[in-house]
Amino acid sequence: MYDLIIIGGGPSAMAAMFYAAGKQLNAVTIYEELGGKIGWLQSLAGPSKEHYLPGNELMQLLTTRGLSRDEAVLHDRVERVTRALDCYRVETQTYGVLESYTVLIATGAAPLILNVPGARRFADRGLGYSATTYAHLLAGQRVAVIGDTPRALSGAAEAAGTAAQVFLIAPGMLDMMHPLSQALAQQPNVEIIQNCEVLELRGDHAVETLIVERDGQPLDLAVDRVFVALGLVPNSQIVRDLVATNAEGFILVNAYHETTLPGLFAAGDVSSTFSEQVLIAIGDGARAAMSAYDYLLARRLIPA
Ligand SMILES: Cc1cc2nc3c(=O)[nH]c(=O)nc-3n(C[C@H](O)[C@H](O)[C@H](O)COP(=O)(O)OP(=O)(O)OC[C@H]3O[C@@H](n4cnc5c(N)ncnc54)[C@H](O)[C@@H]3O)c2cc1C
Repeated sequence: MYDLIIIGGGPSAMAAMFYAAGKQLNAVTIYEELGGKIGWLQSLAGPSKEHYLPGNELMQLLTTRGLSRDEAVLHDRVERVTRALDCYRVETQTYGVLESYTVLIATGAAPLILNVPGARRFADRGLGYSATTYAHLLAGQRVAVIGDTPRALSGAAEAAGTAAQVFLIAPGMLDMMHPLSQALAQQPNVEIIQNCEVLELRGDHAVETLIVERDGQPLDLAVDRVFVALGLVPNSQIVRDLVATNAEGFILVNAYHETTLPGLFAAGDVSSTFSEQVLIAIGDGARAAMSAYDYLLARRLIPA
């Protein structure tokens, strides 16, 4: 019987593992892909190179202690989590069923991909998925941000600070009461195109034109960069029948990262408090592990 099973291999899970190792919990981390989405550069502040922390270095830092015991990690896929009388049962593809007093779900979320002609060809040649990462590199450029999510709004607002022209391409209707929508509507270099469909990306070596359709009319927009912020799909299927989620499937958690079931915690992009940032995921994971530790202490499941 484990004290804690952490499911995931991204920054949330790694921070939790680090915390659990520090508290000498009998914990195991089960992950499909070590690092999760952290392979992307982490922008800490400003445009200078010194402010960047490459994801894999950060991962190394986090795992040095957590991975020091071989039995503490399992490379496997979790199929399902169920509740037993006084514990949880975690069903894995290869290692069978593992039992634990507490479980932390840190399985992340997958970005919705732009699926139109040209999108695959121009990936990393003008097309990206994180405007916020590159906002400071957009001086003088023509930028399109595709999406009507909060991330699309903040990405467009950040890009507008440096770019010559920003097109916010919203497939649906934006919430114009949102403070960021209002700020964007007043920016002279921002054009908001709502209720439209992205048809195609065109260009020679890099993306040059974004074609969208609005009111049945095609619009050809000259662009240097396109960022997709269509939203995330949470990897919460393994507990979908067990805990409460919001309408999009993100696991509902409180400030302590407790779910609606005692002993079951969630952190990072899969949880309802997600903010799609590595540093937030790290904080979430550590806090969730701390809550799991308190849970174990309160029930005298581990020595104080
Ligand atoms: C294109 C892109 C660029 C980004 N750029 C930045 C950036 O510059 N700066 C920044 O701060 N953030 C950035 N982010 C966001 C950041 O990557 C995420 O917020 C962060 O990785 C979330 O961490 P997580 O631990 O919650 O989940 P993830 O990193 O998604 O990790 C989830 C983990 O769970 C595992 N898993 C899932 N299901 C199972 C299962 N059933 N069984 C076992 N394991 C499972 C996966 O293998 C993975 O290891 C970017 C994201 C994207 C998509």
